[in-house]
Amino acid sequence: MKIAIDGPAGAGKSTIAKKVAREIGAIYVDTGAMYRAMGIFMLKKGISAEDGEAIAEASREADISIIYKDGGQHVILNGEDVTGDLRHEEVGAMASCVAKHGAVRAKLVDLQRAMAQKSSVVMDGRDIGTVVLPDAELKIYLDASADVRAKRRFLELEEKGEDHDTLDAIRADIVARDEQDKNREISPLIQADDAVYLDTSDLTIDQVTEKICELARKRSEKEAKF
Ligand code: C5P
Repeated sequence: MKIAIDGPAGAGKSTIAKKVAREIGAIYVDTGAMYRAMGIFMLKKGISAEDGEAIAEASREADISIIYKDGGQHVILNGEDVTGDLRHEEVGAMASCVAKHGAVRAKLVDLQRAMAQKSSVVMDGRDIGTVVLPDAELKIYLDASADVRAKRRFLELEEKGEDHDTLDAIRADIVARDEQDKNREISPLIQADDAVYLDTSDLTIDQVTEKICELARKRSEKEAKF
């Protein structure tokens, strides 16, 4: 079974996708982590977020792979485990810039499709239902208001005790990233026609997980009948 979960930054995709994968016995694939690894590669090389040609050229040298260890996804960039660096704000912003380029997307989409061919997956991202797995048995578009998403992110950073921006700055960052992801030319963030829209603003993680698992069960029962 393939489940595609798309939506804007901070809608709860990764937490929920991870739980759904555990429930249904599938592998969780965080595609944002791959774009983030590509962002790290560009930052390390000192390439400007504006320099599309250099990004496309350099992306050929980035060897990104995913391994699973200790129950989690690890991202390997040219032999180095960069998982610990993926969540930094500057990496997220750079990921959104590199994700505009066709050369980067083509390379990562190939990797994502190869993973989905090998096993059942719950894959989250921005273009999974529309581009990567258009034949997914279940597609979900997870959304939440910018206020709620900013507050969740703020509380998450507080809990981790990490240095962080103000709530307003985090909200501004989220809105800017939405803008960039929804308006890019290639594979913009958009709800697939056949995706189920779920607004998580007033729902708990468990309620959303349960809803998706229920939809997944119904879809697989339907498939089994044919
Ligand atoms: O989901 P996450 O915040 O980790 O994604 C980082 C960035 O990677 C997004 O803002 C988006 O620009 C890009 N991305 C994408 N397509 C995906 C997943 C992520 O363009 N399937």
